[in-house]
Amino acid sequence: MGVPKRRKSRSRKKMRVRSHRHPMPSLAKCPKCHAWTQPHRTCPSCGYYGDRQVISITAE
Ligand SMILES: [Zn+2]
Repeated sequence: MGVPKRRKSRSRKKMRVRSHRHPMPSLAKCPKCHAWTQPHRTCPSCGYYGDRQVISITAE
C-alpha cells in the first residue's frame, strides 16, 4: 500500500470525511398510515412493521 507523502490539512480532511456520510437517510412510505418512515424499520407513528403491529403507540 502507498503511504501518504504529506499530512492533509484540516479542511481537506473534512472535505474527504464529509463525503462518507449520506446527506439524507432514505425514506419509505408506511403502508398502514402513509407516513414517511425509514425502510425495514418499525413505523414510529403507528407501530406497524409489515402487516402486523410490533410496538404499541399511545394516542395523544
Ligand atoms: Zn405507520
